[in-house]
Amino acid sequence: MLVVRTAWRIFRWLLRRGNRRWSLLIIILLGMGLFATVGRWWLRDSPTQADLGRWLRDPSSRDSLETHLTAPCPNAPFLLPSQGFVGFLYNDHTPPYTPVNPHPGVDIFGNGEVGTVPVYAAYDGYLTRLPSWKSAVIIRIPHDPLDESRQIWTYYTHMASLDGAASFISAEFPAGTSEKFVKQGTLLGYQGLYTGNASRIAMHVHVSVVLSDADGSFRNESIFENTLDPSPYFGLTLNAANAVTLPVRCR
Ligand SMILES: [Zn+2]
Repeated sequence: MLVVRTAWRIFRWLLRRGNRRWSLLIIILLGMGLFATVGRWWLRDSPTQADLGRWLRDPSSRDSLETHLTAPCPNAPFLLPSQGFVGFLYNDHTPPYTPVNPHPGVDIFGNGEVGTVPVYAAYDGYLTRLPSWKSAVIIRIPHDPLDESRQIWTYYTHMASLDGAASFISAEFPAGTSEKFVKQGTLLGYQGLYTGNASRIAMHVHVSVVLSDADGSFRNESIFENTLDPSPYFGLTLNAANAVTLPVRCR
């Protein structure tokens, strides 16, 4: 109560004529403090930035940075769908993402030529590839293994060449495929470079866990709120907001 009363007194004093200069100074100082706080939050370092830089620049670092799993982690339902550096994590705020819409999935950077590093289905489900999709597939999982009451989806993208002319998706799943049942571990395609716009990326596969709409269709996977933290599904710490140790290992 005393704090509020004191603050109120200071505020009234500042409002009086003659104290305008002090008011201005305090407002500027408060503004600078707010700017610094928001700026620090906004520009928070990516927990994987340094190691991703090493992975990309120095191929001799790759053995020590790679996560290679041939089966799901103990007590986790999903198989990590590709091998490489699990290097741009879920909920990372850094560019090109923002605190308002952080990275909605996990990127796995493979060690190999473009179009040669395999991508497998994380879990059993029904695969759809829309007619316009050059590099992506989405798999419907009718019962979320962590919450049987709901349906979820797993989404995989960047499986095409830079210009989109060559798709690296398995020939079993041509554009227009709908609801084709696949088992966990089915080969979906290979890591690539396609983003759908002019932006250049290092070769990887982007994987995300996507929520269903009330009508059973998948939500827009590029919006963070429409996705789930993949960590418990894979048994790995994949949320950039948590204490991350690299390379990621079964927990
Ligand atoms: Zn991504």
